[in-house]
Amino acid sequence: MPSLEWERAHTMARPELKARLLANENPWGPSPDARLAIMEAAVSGNRYQHEAAGNLRKMIADFEGVPEDHILLAPGSSDVLEKMAIMHFMNGGNLVAADPAYMSLIKTAVAMKAEWKKVRLTDSWAHDLEGMKKAVDKDTKMVYICNPNNPTGTLTDSDDIRKFIREVATDDTTIFVDEAYLEFLPDYKSKSMVSMIKEGKNVVVARTFSKVHGMAGLRIGYGVMLPSMLKKVNSIWRGNMSLCKTSLMGAMASMGDTEFQKMSVKGTADARAQTVAGLRKMGFSPVPSHTSFMIFPIEMEGKAFLNAMFSKGVGVRAFDIFGDDYCRVSMGKPEEMDLFLSTLQEVLV
Ligand code: PLP
Repeated sequence: MPSLEWERAHTMARPELKARLLANENPWGPSPDARLAIMEAAVSGNRYQHEAAGNLRKMIADFEGVPEDHILLAPGSSDVLEKMAIMHFMNGGNLVAADPAYMSLIKTAVAMKAEWKKVRLTDSWAHDLEGMKKAVDKDTKMVYICNPNNPTGTLTDSDDIRKFIREVATDDTTIFVDEAYLEFLPDYKSKSMVSMIKEGKNVVVARTFSKVHGMAGLRIGYGVMLPSMLKKVNSIWRGNMSLCKTSLMGAMASMGDTEFQKMSVKGTADARAQTVAGLRKMGFSPVPSHTSFMIFPIEMEGKAFLNAMFSKGVGVRAFDIFGDDYCRVSMGKPEEMDLFLSTLQEVLV
């Protein structure tokens, strides 16, 4: 579902907004420890960042329980998504991915002339893994699974994904699992597909510091993959050169600040409860979300809806999902959610 020009324009920086609930940003971050580390790192900004990159890579490898030769650091997980799309579709082929899905990897793959084989989410908004399995053929270079999914905020059972990976992953067909929002799930590590990489499966997992860690503008994320895949990446791109020392040092400090991460997850869950209660009171039916955003159907055409919300200082997004209009709202601070709910009342009820 490619976004429209007018839709994209609404996600740009908008200082006039009173509530910025349009890009699934964390309203609390970065963590206090990360802020200090970033300031300190700036002092040595005249030196290249290789040592810092090595240290963060080691820290992430330990955290994920894999050797360091499994970790690709990146300026945000977008970079992992795009690099994998470029690498996999240099010589054509098809990509099996859900509809609706997060578009970054799909957009790059299609620009590389890949065919996107769309498989509609199920009625409960999970990935239709049976349908995806059927869509895979000899030209399928990659299957993209975003769990929890964006823009729907919904979950696909991790045991079902593991079964799918065991059946579908081969040397020629990579399973890419985008786990940008995984940390918002209880006991999230047990739901990560890094376990499949440990079994030697051809899986790439993308993770980010943009969401729970609140570092979206600082651009830092990583991919976990088999060493053979990482070797291919490093044969095309020069490792570490797109990374920034401040972000590397900030990420290390943030990993250590588990109190901040807990606060972030709890604040998001509280905002979800507040938003669901407010929406239901007004008669809306939000789709149960496992992330830092949620969608719900609206009875207004997307562009007109966004114009009305933005003119009142509330930034959200609109999506056309199978011909119906939906609002996607990111979770913010309690007062932002209050403003969102009262503005929605003025605009739609
Ligand atoms: N994957 C998903 C599902 C996302 O929603 C986003 C950003 O919103 C990203 C990846 C990219 O995030 P970043 O490049 O900031 O890590």
